[in-house]
Amino acid sequence: MVLYSAGRTSTQPTDPPPSGIRMNFLGGANEVGNVGCIIEDNTGTRLLVDYGLAPTRPPKYPSEAPRVEEAIMTHAHIDHIGMAPWLVAAYDTTLHSTEMTAAVSEIMWKDTYKVSDIEGYPLGWDKRDMDLALGAWNTHDFGEWFPIGQWRCRLHRAGHIPGAAMVEIETPEARILWSGDMDTRDSPNAVGASPVECDILCLEGTYGGRSHRPREEEEARFVAKVLEVVSRGGIALVPSFASGRGQDILRILHREAPHLDVHYDGMGTRVTREWMGCPELIRDADGMKRAFRWSKRVSGKSDRKKALGANVIVTTSGMLDGGPALWYLNRLRHHTANAILLTGYQAEGSGGRRLIEDGKIPIFGRLTPIALEIDKFDLSNHGDHSALTSFARACSPTDLVIFHATEEGRQALHEEFAGEMRVHLPTNNTPILIGS
Ligand SMILES: [Zn+2]
Repeated sequence: MVLYSAGRTSTQPTDPPPSGIRMNFLGGANEVGNVGCIIEDNTGTRLLVDYGLAPTRPPKYPSEAPRVEEAIMTHAHIDHIGMAPWLVAAYDTTLHSTEMTAAVSEIMWKDTYKVSDIEGYPLGWDKRDMDLALGAWNTHDFGEWFPIGQWRCRLHRAGHIPGAAMVEIETPEARILWSGDMDTRDSPNAVGASPVECDILCLEGTYGGRSHRPREEEEARFVAKVLEVVSRGGIALVPSFASGRGQDILRILHREAPHLDVHYDGMGTRVTREWMGCPELIRDADGMKRAFRWSKRVSGKSDRKKALGANVIVTTSGMLDGGPALWYLNRLRHHTANAILLTGYQAEGSGGRRLIEDGKIPIFGRLTPIALEIDKFDLSNHGDHSALTSFARACSPTDLVIFHATEEGRQALHEEFAGEMRVHLPTNNTPILIGS
């Protein structure tokens, strides 16, 4: 099914701005995820940063991108890369990213294609488009300058997940820093982001107005819960995102409870193999390699049955929307010593959210009550309010653009910086002009 036909529904102004920097969010301005933003100036240079989709059911798509020759993908989460195959098929766009983001994107796109096919959702691109996109990458090391039209850009470490990048953009009028999804704290697998001085800072605000518990405390609480479940004879099912969270869980368990029998199933195992090809982008890559080898990787049906005798099963999908997690849950649900430990954000309408709110979840088409203990842990790899504010101050911009945030999140950040810098709260499909 065709989602948009190129050039028909784009609301992008046709002429470049007379001066200043124009930003037009196609998605991900006043919402979390679904990101895409066109940045341009009067040199005629035009760049798209990210082009994702929100993996809700049905998925949410950004607006149609206008013709653009260059796009930078900050990291390999589907809400940032999901629509890149459409882009490449429509405009032959070059995709820039780190090497790891390019490698992991292939796995994420294939999975998205498979899920949309099974669920019957429109995607806007097909396998042929995906093949074109696989040939459209131009990868860069952190710190390496590369030209985009009349500008030059370089990528910086964003924390968040290995390979995730912030983008520094040098234009004749301004230095722009696009944060992408970011965290200044180190996580088990990613070194945190450092500030970059700039004129315009585009800052993600997922956790604006909220604070995380100290990471060590939350990791300790998670490990204690796992040990409690195991000591009562149960299995801890840990649904985890394939790109980042699952690998963090392995690192934590390997470090704190190496005696446990931990099985690792699903798309995350393939993502981890791609990670291994870029060890320089992983915090203590040898440690990740050891944790991965220590876990028992599930690669077939008989492995999956063996995993039913494990202490811990780490698997996809992180929101219990499909994947091996549901297969395991269907078998583990009969024994109340077992527990479900949720380690990530559970979107509205997702299986995990329904489980928390109603105690029921659709398993293979049947709404099934689950009587197991359910616990949630905040192992987020986004900076919280205090991390975002100290990062922003250290970048000392004159203009701050807050995106990837809920209304409460961006209002909290707006209040924080009012009078200190010019704060912009963009909404999707309404271009803003800065510094004209
Ligand atoms: Zn992300």
